[in-house]
Formats: sequence, C-alpha cells, structure tokens
Amino acid sequence: MKILQIKNSVVSIASEIQNAYIDFSKMTVSIVAIVTDVIKDDKPVIGYGFHSNGRYAQAGLLRERFLPRLIEAKPENIVDDQRDNLDPFKIWDILMTNEKPGGHGERSVAVGVLDMAVWDAVAKIEEKPLCRLLTERFDKGKSEKEIFVYAAGGYYYPGKGTEKLVKEMRGYLEQGYKVVKMKIGAASLSEDMQRIEAVLRELEKHIDSGETPGSRLAVDANGRFDLSTALAYARELQPLGLFWYEEAGDPLDYHLQSELSSAYDKPFATGENLFSHQDVANLLRYGGLRPEKDYLQMDPALAYGLVEYLRMLDVLAQFNWSPHNCIPHGGHQFALHLAAGLGLGGNESYPGVFQPFGGFADETPIKNSMVRLTDHPGVGFEAKSDLMDLFHTHFN
Ligand code: MG
Repeated sequence: MKILQIKNSVVSIASEIQNAYIDFSKMTVSIVAIVTDVIKDDKPVIGYGFHSNGRYAQAGLLRERFLPRLIEAKPENIVDDQRDNLDPFKIWDILMTNEKPGGHGERSVAVGVLDMAVWDAVAKIEEKPLCRLLTERFDKGKSEKEIFVYAAGGYYYPGKGTEKLVKEMRGYLEQGYKVVKMKIGAASLSEDMQRIEAVLRELEKHIDSGETPGSRLAVDANGRFDLSTALAYARELQPLGLFWYEEAGDPLDYHLQSELSSAYDKPFATGENLFSHQDVANLLRYGGLRPEKDYLQMDPALAYGLVEYLRMLDVLAQFNWSPHNCIPHGGHQFALHLAAGLGLGGNESYPGVFQPFGGFADETPIKNSMVRLTDHPGVGFEAKSDLMDLFHTHFN
C-alpha cells in the first residue's frame, strides 16, 4: 500500500476573543488530507489532520521540510510489517529525519497535523474507531464509551462585562457541562476576583447537594504571571476550592510552578505548551506537581502527535503518574479518542469557540459533562458535518 497524495491548506479561525497573553484576531490552522491507495466502500481511504488553536498554521514547515520527506519516502519504509497498513512510528521517524534534538517549538505542530491524519487513515483501514485500535494495540485499559469533558471559555473580549461572562457560563451549564473554565490574568486581581465570584454565584444555582461552586470552576492564566503575581492569585483562590488553577506562569518555568505548589494545596493544571516527552519529564521532575491531585494538559495535535504522546505516557509511568491525570488541551475529537483508548482523565471542550475544529460528533450531545464516542472508523470526522464541509471545500 502507499500514500498517493497529501493535500494541505490553511484555514482562518480568527475571532475577537483574548486570553491573558494573545488575541485570536489572526489565528490560523493548518489542515491536511493524506490520500491512500486503499479502497473502502469504492472510495480511497483519506486520513485528515489539523492542529489545535493557539499556534498558527504551519504552512512553511510543512511545505519545506515535512511534506517532502513523507512524499519522497519509499513505500516499503512507511508500511507496517505486521499489518497491511501504514506505520505511524516509521512515518514519525521519516518526518523527523535530520531534525536536531531540543527546541520543541513549532515543528511539533507541523508533525502533529500529519500524525493525526496518519492515525485517522490507519484506523479507517482497520475499519474501527481509533480509540478501539489504541486499546487493542497499547493495552492501557478498556476503550471507554463516554469521556468527561469540561467547557472552556470565559475569554476576554472588547465590551464583555461580567454579565455576559455569567450568561456564557450559564449557557454551558444548560448544554450539559458540569465544569466550566474561564480566563484570568488579562485584568487586575481585584477585577478578576469579581468576575470569578460572579461565575461562582451562578454555579451555586446548579450544584448538587454536598458540592461547592468552586469545585465546578477552573481558571486559566495562560502563563501570564510572574511568581509574585501567581502567589497573590493563589492566596485569593485558595479558599474557593477550585477545580484547578491553570498555567499560572511561563510553561517552562518549573521553578515558579514548584514555588507555587508549596503555597497552594488545591489542584493545578498545566502542560498544554509542553511539546515533547523530555519537557514533560522536566515538569514532573522539577515542577513540584502532585500526582494525587494535579492535571497535565499536553495536546497531541500540538506536540508531535500520538506517537510522541505515547512516549509522554511512558514518562508519566516512570514518575508514578497515571494517564488519568491527563486532560488534554484542544477540545478536538482526536484527543477524545486518546482519552477513551488510553485511559486519560477527560478532554477539553470549546462549545462556543474555534469551530469547526472544536467539538465532537453531531449526534453526541453532552450529558452530565460526559460525551459519547461514535463507532465511525478512524477519528470520526465524518460524523462532524461542519468539519467535513470544511475539508471538502478545501480538498475537493
Ligand atoms: Mg490553557
């Protein structure tokens, strides 16, 4: 078998929203389609890939380095010796030929886009959902039918007052989410605390008996704070018992995270901007995080794909962390399959933003903060009509 063609394009997901670090007014996404010579239902099997929001399209890296390497590879060097299929691990090695170690920056996004498309094709060729293929191959537990998701939103945007923020959060709760996330760090501490308290008052109306409103709210500083600001927020947040306090400082500042961990005993989440298993090892070694309560958010679509994510899970095991500590960033179907097939603790969801890449199959509403996976082969993009419309527009 062989790859016949790889198509790629760039899509805008520009919007007015802002977090503590960036606005999304020029945000773009790379998309790819890998066309194979395998025929199913009278059509060639095509694997689709894209990356998550927050990093820009990788058109240059794809065009100049990664696509030529894959297109020029001999067919026998990219196939699975055991199965009549592509081999994602061999393809990963070919993509990373002549790439020096370290500096896991934007190239990890370009590789992640292609890796997603490869796995989509591989599972389609085996005619099974990706989550089931992962469970069978990697033995990380049974393939879950439903996965915990939380609603990520609460961005800043021009003219958005507390009233609109609360209305947005209420909308997520009415859609079936139990846990919601809002941005912090683009306003003063006192203003952010007013925003948080307004959302907590809304959550109070939705919690079950015995729960606290804080246990349903996560806050995300997007790496904005220096240590003293991170500590000042921690002091205010501590009594609220939040679901988590996310990315307080720079993603690579393990000292800051470690200092913060000794001053705040409620859960943290971080890791969405760590793109390699070596970076994850450093976080676990030096970041002071606690496996009994903290969460890791590495996103396979930004971080060299599923091949590298499996290495990250090996690192977790070395440090006695469970895959269940992982709730990936990105809100996409690919990470949902990793969650279901590899025993992760859940997945992010963007009910209001980053469409059509965010969100899940059309026929799977959120109930009790859980989303069901479909039986579609591959990642199941075909069950998400707005995304397939976009792929067809760009690739037909
Ligand atoms: Mg985040």
